This record gives sequence, C-alpha cells and structure tokens, in this order.
Amino acid sequence: MNQDLIPTADAVHKLIQELNKLPGIGPKSAQRLAYYLLRSSEEQTRLLAEAMLSVKQTTRLCSICFNVTDFDPCPLCRNDRRDRSQICIVEQPQDILALEHTGIYKGLYHVLHGAISPTEGVGTDDIRIREVMLRLEGGSVDEVILATNTTLEGEQTAMYLNQLISPLGIRVTRLARGLPFGTELEYADDVTLTRAIEGRQEF
Ligand SMILES: [Zn+2]
Repeated sequence: MNQDLIPTADAVHKLIQELNKLPGIGPKSAQRLAYYLLRSSEEQTRLLAEAMLSVKQTTRLCSICFNVTDFDPCPLCRNDRRDRSQICIVEQPQDILALEHTGIYKGLYHVLHGAISPTEGVGTDDIRIREVMLRLEGGSVDEVILATNTTLEGEQTAMYLNQLISPLGIRVTRLARGLPFGTELEYADDVTLTRAIEGRQEF
C-alpha cells in the first residue's frame, strides 16, 4: 500500500500490521489495540512489551513432556503426586491448561507441538512422536490417553499413535468421544472436557 495514503503515523501503522498477524486479531481489532496502546501510559506499554519479550527469553520446553516451563523438568513432571502410569498426549501446551483446569486428570502429559498434516507438510518426524515413544520404552506406563483435537489432523495423529503404541501392550484410549468433531481442546469448556476424560474409550 502507498504509505502516503495511510492517514496515521508510521509507528502506529507498523504496530497495527504486527498486531494483525496475531491469531484472532483482524484489521479492526488491530487498529483498536494500537490506538489503545497509544493512549495508555508509557509504564503500561512497557510492562506489556517486557512480558512479550520475557516469554521468549525466559521460557523453555520441558525435556520430558515438552510443556512450556521456567524450570526443567517442569512442575508437572517433578510432582510426585502425579500418576506416572498415565500419559496424556496433546497437540499444544495450552491444551494442558484446559485439561488441568478440569482438575480431574492426575497423570502426566506429552506435548506433540503439532499434528500430522500432509496438506501442510507436517510429517511424523516434525512433531514430538519419537520422544513419546522413548518415554514409553521405560515400561512404567499403563495407559496412553490420546487427547489430540477432534479435527482431521488430530484424528490422523491419534490413529498413527495408536498403531505405534498398542503393539507395546499399553492401553490406548481416546477422550474425544464426547467432543463434537472439529473441537480444539483449548476452546472446550470444563464440563465437556471432564465428561470426555471420564468417558474415554479404548481406541
Ligand atoms: Zn514436563
């Protein structure tokens, strides 16, 4: 777009462009946020900018479950009260937040950081599948709960994992039965998720 035609300062225009790249933020929302930040105090803006940088600089992935954490291993993996015989496999770290919010699951987790998607060029080696198979080699896991999204990619990933894991003699369950097709876990409500965990079925 011709810069001369944009009736705002260059810095504001750049901020709108960056905000517009965020998920769920359309051009109108990006504009509203940019002008809100322009009006807010320098202190408030600085806190926001620092928080944004800090998530990149101070967080890492847990070397066991690949959740986002300040410390490695993460608090969930270090917690002695968690049931080490169960591993719940999810696509993204925020899915752990959703499941933990229900308070019903007491086992461990494994974050794949994606789902198999041939159309987007995401193969089995591009997500943390090898790492979960290594964890299962230890022999202390009795049940793996496949909690990938109920989208096409999530279902494909669950099927692939089942093919790998069930020959090991480990119980494989899927919690999606109560969830409508197309559900992304992070957006599911507590009641639905609780029912889905309690009503999980053999794959
Ligand atoms: Zn962990």
